[in-house]
Amino acid sequence: MSTAAAAAAAQSWCFATVTPRSRATVVASLASPSPSSSSSSSSNSSNLPAPFRPRLIRNTPVFAAPDGFAKFKTEFYDKKPELFEPLKAGQAPKYMVFSCADSRVCPSVTMGLEPGEAFTVRNIANMVPAYCKIKHAGVGSAIEYAVCALKVELIVVIGHSRCGGIKALLSLKDGAPDSFHFVEDWVRTGFPAKKKVQTEHASLPFDDQCAILEKEAVNQSLENLKTYPFVKEGIANGTLKLVGGHYDFVSGNLDLWEP
Ligand SMILES: [Zn+2]
Repeated sequence: MSTAAAAAAAQSWCFATVTPRSRATVVASLASPSPSSSSSSSSNSSNLPAPFRPRLIRNTPVFAAPDGFAKFKTEFYDKKPELFEPLKAGQAPKYMVFSCADSRVCPSVTMGLEPGEAFTVRNIANMVPAYCKIKHAGVGSAIEYAVCALKVELIVVIGHSRCGGIKALLSLKDGAPDSFHFVEDWVRTGFPAKKKVQTEHASLPFDDQCAILEKEAVNQSLENLKTYPFVKEGIANGTLKLVGGHYDFVSGNLDLWEP
């Protein structure tokens, strides 16, 4: 495979639905370029109605829902100009939300958030690390922009049931080598919460400790937020509040609390 083809393949994988069927389709199209693939596909796709164009990458549907964007466009975007017109000029979200990257807990869906309402960061186990310019510029810049530029009023950290990141954190053995390049190092962000749960709930089964750690890790993230000087200042001035949350998708419940 040429460098260009490899780059195209990588780009396809960034957007393609990860199913065995679509994976096979993409691989097959790369192995055997056809008149309908590559550059000719873009000319073909230009003949399609506009809402249908973005869904095809190398003739492979991007998402499983065949009419997902068209449905959003006609049933939401086109019907709510009062919502979308002001957003063309800029955003002024009231909330910042930290949520897990888990595919089952999209906060826009579970919290009923509309576009423009929440500045959102999603990562493994919805963790907020303590202030560190060297290691955590990505998270730090999002918090800084939300607080200092967008002037959000509330930062909400929402954990969830059966979180794989929390399970990974609780499963870590002291001194054992890491299996992933990044995952273990990232979830160690919640190490103090893990030690707290293991100390206070040592007799509980692993799954019960996980359930408690899901909330304790949120509490630790709320404490870590206070290590950012602009967050600390906002709380002191009364312009910013912190809230913890836990969404249980097994029971269908949501808990919210103030630290
Ligand atoms: Zn999770």
